[in-house]
Amino acid sequence: MFYKVYFTVIVFLFGLVVGSFDNVAIYRIPEGKSLVAPRSFCPKCGKPIAWYDNIPLLSFIILRGRCRTCGEPISARYPLVELVSGLLFLAVFAKADFNWSAVLLPYLLMVTVLIIVSGIDLQKQIIPNKVIYPAIPIGLAAMGIVALARGDAGIMLRSLIGLAIGGVPLALLALALPKGMGMGDAKLAAFTGIFLGYYQLAGFFFAFLLGAIIGVGLIIAGKGGRKSRIPFGPFLAAGALIALFWGPTIWELYRSLL
Ligand SMILES: [Zn+2]
Repeated sequence: MFYKVYFTVIVFLFGLVVGSFDNVAIYRIPEGKSLVAPRSFCPKCGKPIAWYDNIPLLSFIILRGRCRTCGEPISARYPLVELVSGLLFLAVFAKADFNWSAVLLPYLLMVTVLIIVSGIDLQKQIIPNKVIYPAIPIGLAAMGIVALARGDAGIMLRSLIGLAIGGVPLALLALALPKGMGMGDAKLAAFTGIFLGYYQLAGFFFAFLLGAIIGVGLIIAGKGGRKSRIPFGPFLAAGALIALFWGPTIWELYRSLL
């Protein structure tokens, strides 16, 4: 019991710290800026942020969401990204029942890349190659380590099948309908397929379902007609997370209904 509580706190804090890095990546990668230098600064007044004002989640609360120097509001996106990262890290560890498991490494990589890509896609309507190109071979290598650790080559085979299930249909769709789907979406689905294997199909199902619900909702709310482009990356990410955490349960449910 104590072990679980202790582990929960450590994992959540670890997720918050990675979330803080995700914020830097979301802001700097589309601008072509370095991830390490210079230190974080306030986008409004340009003043560097001291370490004690840069503590994930906590600093935002202590500063009441305002820059210490200029008093301008800090975007709620920053604590939100940190919180989402913390909660997803917890969910990944909970999936492994708070035991050390080889799958922790690839799954933590997956949720981190999904947060960064979704954040950038929401802001800039682009899934940058700079993130997704290195992410795909690193993801394959991480699943390769799992396959080795478990002595099961089938894991690697399922990863490669998932990569194809994710990438090929959307790549064809992007070629056929360049305005509806971007090649970046295909690369992102190929990436999630590495971790999901066959469950990438469930990921697609929920991505399109959520996309349809939100799309219709936005049209009803008058916020974007048919022509306005809604970035699809966050939906692919949400679908992939549903498939990661509930894929087998959903599959069993589906089979029991047949
Ligand atoms: Zn400022």
